[in-house]
Amino acid sequence: MNCNHHPDDSTLLSYGACSLPDALAIVVACHLAVCDHCHGKVADAELIGHGLMEQEPMEPMSKKARDSMLALLDKSVDEVYSETQKIPHDQADGDIPEPLRPISGQWFSDLHWRTMAPGMKQFILPASRGKLRLLKIAPGTFMPSHGHSGSELTLVLKGSYSDELGRFSVGDVADVDPDITHQPVADTHEGCICLIATDGPLRFKGLVPRLLQPFFQL
Ligand SMILES: [Zn+2]
Repeated sequence: MNCNHHPDDSTLLSYGACSLPDALAIVVACHLAVCDHCHGKVADAELIGHGLMEQEPMEPMSKKARDSMLALLDKSVDEVYSETQKIPHDQADGDIPEPLRPISGQWFSDLHWRTMAPGMKQFILPASRGKLRLLKIAPGTFMPSHGHSGSELTLVLKGSYSDELGRFSVGDVADVDPDITHQPVADTHEGCICLIATDGPLRFKGLVPRLLQPFFQL
């Protein structure tokens, strides 16, 4: 899949080092399942990380282990990754991305969506660090303008939306810094489903969204 918007390199590095809060890590995992570009970057980062950790003196390798390691080195990182790590995105089993299914189930239509505002529904997913939610936005709906007190990662799973940062379609990730305020609008031809992870509360500009905030765990 050709994605136009990717997570920042710092986000990918943190993911490779297993230091992202799990809510954010799940969004990155869903993007990596469809983006070869970022997959390669994370694979490189992980190899460097493993190299740094393996500076300790090692026991001599068995012949079998050495042969399999040499075979592995003959392949490019991308090849190894596509064989061992890449998660198939099998639409026949459901329309929810594979990495999410253990906590969400298979189909968007089976989720108990909760209405937040006209044209906006959410489904909250479990996460031990950070907040993770699916958001379903009707065509042409404006989301409340908001800033952030932490990181926000948004992955488009269906449809598209636009905001001050550009247009985001299926597979695209918006990696939003705390200093950015934005107002996403779902594109008019079809609605939009996004997976959104935050590691700090949102900061709404308007009074009404601020009053509703505690009720929707935003
Ligand atoms: Zn990417």
